[in-house]
Amino acid sequence: MAKKNKDKSKVCLPGVCPSELRFDLVSKDWVVIATGRAKRPETFKREKRAKKEVSQRVCPFDKIDTQEEPTLIFSQGKKVFFKIGNKIPKNWTTVSIPNKYPAFIPYLKLDRKSKDSLFQTMNAVGFHEVVVTKDHKKQIAQLQISQVKEVIDVYHGRFKEMIEEKFVNYVSIFHNHGTEAGASIAHPHSQIITTPLIDSDLRKALVNSKNYYKKHRKCIYCVMSDWERKNKERVVFENKGFLVICPFASKAAFEMIISPKKHLPYFEKISEKEKLQLAQALRVALNKLYKGLGDPAYNFYLHTAPCDGENYDHYHWHWTILPKTATWAGFELGTGIEISTIEPEKAAEYLRKQ
Ligand SMILES: [Zn+2]
Ligand SMILES: [Zn+2]
Repeated sequence: MAKKNKDKSKVCLPGVCPSELRFDLVSKDWVVIATGRAKRPETFKREKRAKKEVSQRVCPFDKIDTQEEPTLIFSQGKKVFFKIGNKIPKNWTTVSIPNKYPAFIPYLKLDRKSKDSLFQTMNAVGFHEVVVTKDHKKQIAQLQISQVKEVIDVYHGRFKEMIEEKFVNYVSIFHNHGTEAGASIAHPHSQIITTPLIDSDLRKALVNSKNYYKKHRKCIYCVMSDWERKNKERVVFENKGFLVICPFASKAAFEMIISPKKHLPYFEKISEKEKLQLAQALRVALNKLYKGLGDPAYNFYLHTAPCDGENYDHYHWHWTILPKTATWAGFELGTGIEISTIEPEKAAEYLRKQ
């Protein structure tokens, strides 16, 4: 049998630093930070990349009357009361409308069936709505804070109503920007989908944070936030209520997490003041990406406690922003690990300066 080469000098070339594996305290997954192939932050800018625009002759959201009837309308920061069947007022600024091509449909029976002796099916019961801001060209990074607050008002308003329904056990809110991030319509919009089940990533985070809480009587997210605020090198921005960081075990280059400084498990309980602070943090974070990386495609999404009646006091809600700066290929798809080619500390330093 051939012996393994243990001569280290032959393994590590001078001047080449190895990549670093970093452990995510919550998911308990490892990520790869390829410090050896690290790029300078500026090289992530997409100046020279041709922007792929969604070509659409008519934007469906510019003619909002042609869409499904809205479930919530806001105008200049205020909720508009309207009757079913009435026309949408012309001065609308943000609306939530049922998706014309929903992945989930409300008020179906949650029939769980066995298709045969091996496979199971269930009806995809749930809400699927689209939150649309009026301006076709202005993305969230370019809105005023009061306008971003209105978007959060709509998220929150719909969230609170949806969780009243029996078939809703989780509310997923997300936003896709750019074709590489899966946005099929160029007009800025977010989506809200409710599910009768809890996905495995979130379930893992719930279990692990609960175990940590049982052992230490502390929230793992609060512990990490305190560390980051003291340590500072991964902090991108903070205001009175919120902290924006590039997480230690970033899954992607320039990933950011926005979390409340106060321990808040349930997004539905957010206060007016916190909504305004969150709006500022989200707006600042997205604007830094816009300027620093030249308007990259990105996804952002909320992780919060499920609404299935269980106790999740140990959990801490937060938003994750994931820029699309790399194309997922075999390794990423096979392992779920992106080889991040910038250290989160360098990414945070660069974004702080924007
Ligand atoms: Zn439009
Ligand atoms: Zn906490």
